[in-house]
Amino acid sequence: MPQMAEKIRLFVEADLMEGSEIALPRDQAHYLGGVMRRTAGDTLAVFNGRDGEWQVRIAEIGKRAGRLECTGLLRPQTEPPDLWLAFAPVKKARTDFIAEKACEMGCRRVIPVFTRHTNSERVNRDRLQAHAVEAAEQCGLLSVPEVAEPVTLDRFLADLSERQILFCDESGAGAPATEVLRAQGAGPWVVLTGPEGGFSAEEAARLRARDDAHAVSLGPRILRADTAAVAALTLWQAVLGDWT
Ligand code: SAH
Repeated sequence: MPQMAEKIRLFVEADLMEGSEIALPRDQAHYLGGVMRRTAGDTLAVFNGRDGEWQVRIAEIGKRAGRLECTGLLRPQTEPPDLWLAFAPVKKARTDFIAEKACEMGCRRVIPVFTRHTNSERVNRDRLQAHAVEAAEQCGLLSVPEVAEPVTLDRFLADLSERQILFCDESGAGAPATEVLRAQGAGPWVVLTGPEGGFSAEEAARLRARDDAHAVSLGPRILRADTAAVAALTLWQAVLGDWT
């Protein structure tokens, strides 16, 4: 099991190097001092998505502000596998769940995609991005996955290039996902899942016609959208990603 060097990990914007100082914004100062009861001299880990994970010591901590000092590199920066999730937003709590789990599962990018049968009209990107930061802090990630601007399926497909699509097709017509992943092999991939109402016949036909899209089945049961996303990402990580 991965062991984390420090119990507390925070994502920061500042550059991290030997001896650098980090000014804590109010919410992080409150969390460290008020919630976690840490005091000057205590250590924790920080990362910024660029410079690896660093151990820092608390120089000062107050209710509204704080200051940290970098004391040593814990882990150098590494890139996660090139995996994205494009998903049709569902109800709020399940959309939050999908974004959070996609980060835990090691996606670099999470893209809300509006399809024909997508019911939810708005997506709060800032809230999803905040879930991504929390997931990254908790799971020991070295960068925070990006929650992209929501797009229509048309736009998403038009803009996509040099990336294979694992099209989660609830019709059952697709080959088993593990078979497809083994046959296609490693490289940039995006897992695509539909809304509660599924993909329309027209959308499914359009996807099947693309050379870069591979319709796959996730077994004999119809999964809910959030379950399907986690299941597909799990299979990808197990066959082609960093679970191997
Ligand atoms: N209402 C649809 C089900 C949609 S499930 C119906 O009854 O047919 C939501 C999404 O999860 C689907 O669009 C698909 O992307 C994915 N999904 C669910 N079960 C799946 C399965 N067995 N195989 C592949 N994809 C699945």
